[in-house]
Amino acid sequence: MSDYKKILVAVDFSDYDGIVIGQANRLAGKFNAELSVIHVLDNIPMPDTPYGAIIALGDQSGDSLLEDEKNRFNQVCDSVDIAPANRWLIWGRPQEEIIRLALTERVDLIVVGSHGHHGLAALMGSTAKGVIFNAECDVLTVHLKANQ
Ligand code: AMP
Repeated sequence: MSDYKKILVAVDFSDYDGIVIGQANRLAGKFNAELSVIHVLDNIPMPDTPYGAIIALGDQSGDSLLEDEKNRFNQVCDSVDIAPANRWLIWGRPQEEIIRLALTERVDLIVVGSHGHHGLAALMGSTAKGVIFNAECDVLTVHLKANQ
């Protein structure tokens, strides 16, 4: 196995983000890899930005919903000191945007959380599953359990 050089961790603003980003950050440290973070906005209408689906984090949008999401995202990224250029807030479908960014940024490892869905959620699929089956690079799932 060769060393990973570019790692992308996907965060969903759940209570588990600290665990997932913490593991990705430790891995990045061990491999001396560059760590990027992505959150995909799939819960608010397409924001009206001049940049399309990629949200510029430095500008004020005037949209309070979007500003709240930007603040949450920056807090998660600040927790492990992610460089501004490696923070990706993108509007769209999580699975698609995570895979697309990994390709365009030449990422060699994607890190996602996995709740090990059962029942209906397992039948319908999950973001973690979609990324595992469709990504063109390695994917690490951080196993998440309640009360972790
Ligand atoms: P799920 O399969 O939807 O339960 O989510 C499992 C993992 O997929 C999360 O721990 C994140 O790593 C990733 N994920 C889910 N939704 C998003 C999102 N909107 N943006 C970025 N990553 C996400």
